[in-house]
Amino acid sequence: MRPLGTTLRRWRMRRILKRHPIPHCIWQSVTRHVLVLRELDAVQMAHLREMATWFLDRKSITGAQGLDVTLSMRVAVAAQACLLILNLGVEYFDGWVEVILYPGAFRVDHEQIDAMGLIHNEASILTGESWLRGPVILSWDDVKRDTYHHQVGHNVVLHEFAHKLDAINGAANGMPPLRRGMTRKGWAEALSGAYDTLCQQVAAGESAFINPYAATTPAEFFAVLTEYFFTAPAILKNCYPSVHKQLAQFYSQTASR
Ligand SMILES: [Zn+2]
Repeated sequence: MRPLGTTLRRWRMRRILKRHPIPHCIWQSVTRHVLVLRELDAVQMAHLREMATWFLDRKSITGAQGLDVTLSMRVAVAAQACLLILNLGVEYFDGWVEVILYPGAFRVDHEQIDAMGLIHNEASILTGESWLRGPVILSWDDVKRDTYHHQVGHNVVLHEFAHKLDAINGAANGMPPLRRGMTRKGWAEALSGAYDTLCQQVAAGESAFINPYAATTPAEFFAVLTEYFFTAPAILKNCYPSVHKQLAQFYSQTASR
């Protein structure tokens, strides 16, 4: 991972901030109601505004099924997505450009190959989807709900963009490129230990304090636990303290979470 701040990248960032600033009134009116941003201080909010400005310049956010995407909607998505990379750097969102907003939950048809090698076409209704090297797709109804009404352990924007961090290495496996000072061994031990525990609880039909969807795959575990880290850190700290410690190091949010 190239560190943030090559001369070219800094120059580009300055140019974007100068040419395409998010109007102050829009930034204020949207972000003051975004629940996951409440812990940020004024300096962090200023930094987040710069990153959201960069995001809106470099990524396209378009509506599907006739959804009219306003600047306020784009800012709501960008601000929450950039919360993830606030202390990581914009290069963590390299490699893709497109965000698609559906008015509500959307239907997808995916081909699945079963153990016999037969191809099945399976339809699912989703609130969000993140393609490995393609777009992030979100239901605006669900973005709106998670943005403005506290949902313990739920934030579809954080979830889908966490998949983007995970996919930087070319595979969504719950192992994003770690920050300097972190080790793959420490990350893997903490997350795989907690993942195995959750899978055993779910398989045994025991009630878990974490959304059982996290037991689907290690990639979903990372995405769901990211949602907890930002929306319900006390639950995460209580259930999986070693995972909380790794996520706090990764997102570098130790002071506020
Ligand atoms: Zn997911």
